[in-house]
Amino acid sequence: MHVTSNSLALIGNTPLVRLNGPSAESGGEIWAKCEFANPGASVKDRAALFIVEDAEQKGLIKPGGTIVEGTAGNTGIGLALVANAKGYRTIIVMPETQSREKMDTLRALGAELVLVPAAPYSNPGHFVHTSRRIAEETENAIWANQFDNVANRRAHIAGTASEIWDQMDGRIDGFTCAVGTGGTLAGVGLGLKEKDERIKIALSDPHGAALYEYYAHGELKSEGSSVAEGIGQGRITANLEGAPVDTQYRISDEEGLEWVRRLLDEEGLCLGLSSGINVAGAVRLARELGPGSRVATILCDTGFRYLSTLYNREWLRMKGLPVPDSLAGG
Ligand code: PMP
Repeated sequence: MHVTSNSLALIGNTPLVRLNGPSAESGGEIWAKCEFANPGASVKDRAALFIVEDAEQKGLIKPGGTIVEGTAGNTGIGLALVANAKGYRTIIVMPETQSREKMDTLRALGAELVLVPAAPYSNPGHFVHTSRRIAEETENAIWANQFDNVANRRAHIAGTASEIWDQMDGRIDGFTCAVGTGGTLAGVGLGLKEKDERIKIALSDPHGAALYEYYAHGELKSEGSSVAEGIGQGRITANLEGAPVDTQYRISDEEGLEWVRRLLDEEGLCLGLSSGINVAGAVRLARELGPGSRVATILCDTGFRYLSTLYNREWLRMKGLPVPDSLAGG
């Protein structure tokens, strides 16, 4: 039994589940880390804890201080939980295009929420730059800086990668996931290569992101767009520097959504779209590695965070996405 006297110890050590539909589809075995089982219901709790504890160890944050961050939402939720447990405040800057559920969750957790219009990274109003400015202007505050603070990927080298290795008894042929900050892909990639350099690491990139072209042809270039929240990067963040990427896939929202539906209908897993994109990538990687190959990926967050979007027929119609039978009637 898992017993702890410290709520922060609930972060990480997530279960690994074999995904039966994707395994059958690929001819291999697809195994997935249940990151929705973290206290904040996403993979980002891990980065939040490492970033805050790194700042504490470096003496950058004093008791009662404030943590400021720009985020698509999940990192903010993780930071708010960690901050509450340690007696800090949080100011979270988020683009207003993110799901209602994330905004409501952040407010419920006590974070001060600052919504900004979605803007390109080159625009000074972008959520990342806005959060840096607020941190500079706030007394006794730190800027978490998840994109370029490598405490983020260290959480995945020390945690996620070694957990996957142990949970799979070292019998693993490949790993894939999508990139927001790159902490997960680079951290798990580096951690697994340290154990066995033959493990293939693949990027699963949504449309609208620039990394597929970068790893395929050395050029940051994007095409199309995606409704997936939390992923889709246009630059090489510090967390991505030196990421051991062996191969790359471009995954459409339709392909990712198809897996989101199937995982819910066939395996009872209610997930967000980045999880579906990861599973689509894992199926491709297992096919490429051959029959019986063992591939791991990440189930990044819970679908309950997207009831007003991915699981809402009006929203799906508005975005021109297919509406599943379960949502079509009534
Ligand atoms: N999926 C979701 C839902 C996320 O919120 C994030 C984090 N932005 C990711 C995937 C990507 O994780 P990372 O930042 O480690 O690349």
